[in-house]
Amino acid sequence: MKSHRYHSHATSPGIAIAPAYCLKRTTPTPPRYWILDRDVEQEVQRFVAALKRSREQLVRVEAKMCRIQGYDQLKIIESQRLFLQDEMLTKSTMETIRQGRINAEWALDKTLVQLKLSFLNVPEGHFRDRYQDIEYAGRRLMDNLLGGGGLSTSELPEGECVIFVHDLSPAEVANFPRDRVAGIVMEVGGETSHTAIIARALAIPAILGVKEEILQHVTDGETVIVDGVKGLVVLSPQKVELAQYRTIKQKYADLERLLMQDIHLPAKTRDGFSIRLEANIELIDEIPSLLQHGAEGVGLYRTEYLFLNRMDFPSEEEQFENYRTVLSRLGSRTVTIRTLDLGGDKMAFGQQEYEEQANPALGLRAIRLCLRERSLLIAQLRALLRASTAGKLRILVPLVSQVDEIHQVLKILNSVKKDLKKEKIPFRDDVPVGIMIEVPSAAMMAAEFAQLVDFFSIGTNDLLQYGLAIDRGNELVSHFFSPYEPAVIRLVHIAVEAARKAKIPVTVCGEMAGDPFAIAFLLGLDLEALSMNPVSIPRAKKIIRSLSREEAQKLLHEVLTLPSAHEIEKHLHRKLQKLHLDRHGLFPL
Ligand code: PEP
Ligand code: MG
Repeated sequence: MKSHRYHSHATSPGIAIAPAYCLKRTTPTPPRYWILDRDVEQEVQRFVAALKRSREQLVRVEAKMCRIQGYDQLKIIESQRLFLQDEMLTKSTMETIRQGRINAEWALDKTLVQLKLSFLNVPEGHFRDRYQDIEYAGRRLMDNLLGGGGLSTSELPEGECVIFVHDLSPAEVANFPRDRVAGIVMEVGGETSHTAIIARALAIPAILGVKEEILQHVTDGETVIVDGVKGLVVLSPQKVELAQYRTIKQKYADLERLLMQDIHLPAKTRDGFSIRLEANIELIDEIPSLLQHGAEGVGLYRTEYLFLNRMDFPSEEEQFENYRTVLSRLGSRTVTIRTLDLGGDKMAFGQQEYEEQANPALGLRAIRLCLRERSLLIAQLRALLRASTAGKLRILVPLVSQVDEIHQVLKILNSVKKDLKKEKIPFRDDVPVGIMIEVPSAAMMAAEFAQLVDFFSIGTNDLLQYGLAIDRGNELVSHFFSPYEPAVIRLVHIAVEAARKAKIPVTVCGEMAGDPFAIAFLLGLDLEALSMNPVSIPRAKKIIRSLSREEAQKLLHEVLTLPSAHEIEKHLHRKLQKLHLDRHGLFPL
């Protein structure tokens, strides 16, 4: 049989060789089995517990919807919750468990099928709506019984697999059991999409935006190769190719090990210029990884992940505990925590109102959303300030595009501080506040912003998205993305120059900061830190230690004169080849 090769973006580096598994966006088939007499009541209790959990989730969703002005679908949720109390569902399922001596999922499935049938043939209107309630509430209940929620991964095969899927949200990738997922191949998405970022953070080799309907050609269980360095998926590989890739995989692992041996060394150029290497994190679970990879701090904590994958928003108390944990675990290292960047491709439950915006990325996202839903921002700022005594906190505000936004944020922060003082709650009054430079207007107005804030963090992912008008998550245009886009490099340069004049520190925290070629010229700028996925840090360190500041400045100067990403990439390739540095793996595999 001939092998089939598909090329796309090298989204998350690494090599995976494992059986394919097509993840379908459906509730998994409920397991069916008979149970012993003595287990019947326990099974009924399992069903009752899932009912309770489902009802509680819906109560929380209702409460949240009440808080969100103008949301008018409260009734839909309420009727789903009421359906979960309906004897047609509860009594009938419990009787089926008892009389049929069958497991709860099977009994529930039977009840749902019967209920749906009785409503299916009725005309449009109220009873037809009831069918939808059964569908949604039934799915929720089944998910809870199966111990999951949302996209279920309970059907993943034993051992490792490469997941083939049309689309995954960043939150869904974050939820995967890491030891079972060797790689991800997705039909949609681009290199700087949040889904890609999470895959990199978890060191899962991933290829996004593979068109050509790959899902129709892959068979569950067949061995596939994912080359996340080259952006290549091989279906039905030939024996020789498989053997070659096993060697490459081994070499890759050896290289990783080699790089890890140097993580204790400082990120210093050959001529003694130091830069701090920090980590971008999304989840508190990444702390061990960032420490293992030698991060000198957290340059970007994307707190919105605390709000995703769940039915309710975290309380001030829950946030406080979370931020305090990160700060205390990082000790004397700086931790830059970003306020909520919800919206765009990161929509939390209960935000459907905002999902309907025609252009969510240009709409009510990040600080714009927080300035509208002020209670969200206030709770987060209170939690952050309260946690500030536990370590070295910096607060970072995302997607600022106008000077007035930062005036408003600072005003709210001051009033939060006043409240905390009144309540005699301790906090650090000198927590630095900075902004993300990720919208061209912020870069162009950097001199003005630099008078108002304590630091900048440059988000090159969004600077690319907004600077070039290329949707980060749209695979039809994502091939236009390049970390070497001259317009973006020039915007970065403008912002860094403004910060230098105002004497405020700058970090680059977009994906560009972890790209070995880009690091080579970013080192030529006056940056305090580069913040990246923890797994990219050992490579970044290797690059920095191989270069001199003078070489980097020369490269930057040359890059700033070149007219296209392609030419910049070619130029960097030529120059860095001499140092045996390669775009992804440092050494050619
Ligand atoms: C960026 O835009 O570059 C950035 C770091 O933020 P995020 O990727 O979370 O949008
Ligand atoms: Mg951003």
